[in-house]
Amino acid sequence: MKKTLLFALAALLVLTLFAGCNGGESNTLTMATNAEFPPYEFMEDGKIVGIDAEIAQAIATKLGKELKIENVDFDSLIPGVQTGKYDFVMAGMTVTEDRKEQVDFTQTYATGVQVIIVKEGSKITTADDLFKEGANTKIGVQLATTGDLYCTWDIEDEGLGTVERYNKGADAVMALNTDKVDCVVIDNEPAKVFVQNNPGLKILDTEYITEDYAAAVSKDQPELKADIDKALGELIADGTVKTIIEKYIPAE
Ligand code: GLN
Repeated sequence: MKKTLLFALAALLVLTLFAGCNGGESNTLTMATNAEFPPYEFMEDGKIVGIDAEIAQAIATKLGKELKIENVDFDSLIPGVQTGKYDFVMAGMTVTEDRKEQVDFTQTYATGVQVIIVKEGSKITTADDLFKEGANTKIGVQLATTGDLYCTWDIEDEGLGTVERYNKGADAVMALNTDKVDCVVIDNEPAKVFVQNNPGLKILDTEYITEDYAAAVSKDQPELKADIDKALGELIADGTVKTIIEKYIPAE
């Protein structure tokens, strides 16, 4: 009798522990980002804020989960989601064919444009200048971003110039300020913020490439991807995403 009771109690304990564990785990949604990409994600008063942080929060609320945001290097985002360290990524991340082989993307919620930042009076006046034979431009980029990938393929691999890779977009801009690079190729919205903070720099009118941003989820989590996609779709449809974007990027 005593034994049975003890056994039952033990079983109950194990079950409770299990349930508690599961509940805790499934009730938190971990979003990974790289908070060096204003206005999509940046640090303010020690907190990660921005468009992606707010959309992620709205998604989590819709799914009845608590949101946790992890701030990591941009090139750790995809590996982290692949190994299950993070549930999803929102980082102004462009949908590309290569990345689609590594992760699943939700529908897109914003567009970005790769632009070129130069010093006022620079000899570089159009995107074409980077592709000229003998131009030998030194291009600053953020490591593992599409700006890095495209400039590497189209310019460095073709022997037309060189690419200097930095962990932060702001560091690439700093390198431009101190003439370590001739230009920076980066997404338009952070470019605007960086140029605003650095007198003497400007963004060239010529656009390099237009891209779509989406959230990334592990290929092993089709249900989670469907949940996030559905929540995101609703937030797009009811205007929440637009409101969040316009809060950070006032319509011109
Ligand atoms: N949109 C670019 C990319 O996906 C840059 C994103 C970023 O730096 N956060 O590569």
